[in-house]
Amino acid sequence: MNATPYKGRFAPSPTGPLHFGSLVAAVASYLQARSRDGQWFLRIEDIDPLREPAGASEQIIRTLQDFGFEWDGELIFQSQRSEHYLAALASLQDQHWTYPCSCSRKQIADHSTSGPYGPIYPGSCRLGPLDATRPCALRLRVTDDEIQFHDAVYGAQQSVLSKDLGDFVLQRADGLFAYQLAVVVDDSLQGITEVVRGSDLLDNTARQIHLHHCLGLSTPDYVHLPLVLNEAGQKLSKQTFAPALDSDARQRLLVAALAFLGQPVPDELASLPLAQIWDHAIHHWSLAAVSPHNRSLSPGIDP
Ligand SMILES: [Zn+2]
Repeated sequence: MNATPYKGRFAPSPTGPLHFGSLVAAVASYLQARSRDGQWFLRIEDIDPLREPAGASEQIIRTLQDFGFEWDGELIFQSQRSEHYLAALASLQDQHWTYPCSCSRKQIADHSTSGPYGPIYPGSCRLGPLDATRPCALRLRVTDDEIQFHDAVYGAQQSVLSKDLGDFVLQRADGLFAYQLAVVVDDSLQGITEVVRGSDLLDNTARQIHLHHCLGLSTPDYVHLPLVLNEAGQKLSKQTFAPALDSDARQRLLVAALAFLGQPVPDELASLPLAQIWDHAIHHWSLAAVSPHNRSLSPGIDP
C-alpha cells in the first residue's frame, strides 16, 4: 500500500510566454503525477513584479489549457500568499535562523571569495547589520553540514552551503520574497511529494533542503530534467529569445517534448487527437528513459 499519495506541481515564473523548454518540464512533471494516479498542481510564481510583463500569467495558463494540461485543486498565485511567507520568516526569526543584512552587492563582491554559485557571502552582518541606516535584506544562516540528496535523474548530490554559498537571502531589502523562501513554503503547504523541474534549478536544491530543515519540514523527492538547448548551445529562455509555444502546433510540440524526454513516439502519434497523445504518453511514461544530457532537438524538429 502506498501511504502518501503522489502530489506534483508545475510552477512557472511569468517572466514571459512558455517556450519549448518549459513544455518539457511541464510534460515530465504532469506525466510523473498522472502515471501514478497522483495530483498535479499549477502554481504561478509571480513574486517579482518588475520582471513580469502584463498578461504573462494569463498567457501561460491559456497555453497550458490549449496543450491539454488539467490541474487539480486551486490555481495558486504566489503574489497572493505573502501572509504564508511572512509567517515562515517570523518562525525562522524566532529561532534565530535569520538576520538583517545591509550589505550592497558591491560590498559583498569586494569582501568575498567566489564559489560555485557566485560570491560566497562572508557573514559580515551576522552580529548585526554593518550599516543599520540602510534598508536590510533578511539572510538565512547556513551550516557546515553536508547536505545530501538523491536526484532521480542526476544521482547523488551534495553541498556544504557554508563553503559553497554562505548565508543566503530570503527577503530582499526592497521587501520582495526570495524564490527559495516562496518555493519551500508552497511546496510544503501544498504537500508536494516530488519536485520535477529543469536542471538549471539543481543548484538551488541544497538551499531549499536546508530551509525545509530550518522550518522543521520534511523534504520532497527531487527530479531534475535535462535542458533544451538552441542551435548556439544556449538554454532556451526568454534571455536567449526562445520562441513562445505555438498552440496551433500543440500535437507536434507535445510529441517533440516526449521524444526529447526519451519516450516512445510512434510515427503516427503527432497526427492523433491531443487526448489520445496524452493517453499514450501517460501509459508509456518512463522516467528511467530520460537522459541527463542537455541537448538541442534533433534536426528536423523545430520548436
Ligand atoms: Zn551583510
